[in-house]
Amino acid sequence: MRKIEHIGIAVKKLSMAVPVYEKLLNTKCYKTETVESEYVKTAFFRVADSKIELLESTTPDGVIARFIEKKGEGLHHLAFAVEDIDAEMKRLEKEGFVLLNKEPKEGADNKLVCFLHPKNTTGVLIELCMEKK
Ligand code: ZN
Repeated sequence: MRKIEHIGIAVKKLSMAVPVYEKLLNTKCYKTETVESEYVKTAFFRVADSKIELLESTTPDGVIARFIEKKGEGLHHLAFAVEDIDAEMKRLEKEGFVLLNKEPKEGADNKLVCFLHPKNTTGVLIELCMEKK
């Protein structure tokens, strides 16, 4: 793992959350993007070498909507940048972690991603992400 690529935060409304983070971080949101396949709208902020990703559900029964229903708004996942996502997925599966997708899938911000089940990661949803070439 190279670094913490971003931290994902589940929010009810980007229109409410984006101005909060713009004030908090004293920087403008540099990108918003809808990932249709994941039913999320995302907004990104740079923080030095890392990023904050705000996530709003595009449907009432999407993963982010269900997360907020259960736990409320807040920290949703931690994303690590990896050089070779296939190799990391194989390594982590061998180590006993549970991959939530068996093949890398399209993520926001030009990434291929894979999520690890939080039951084996002390309760934290982990995302691996690799920049698409
Ligand atoms: Zn993410």
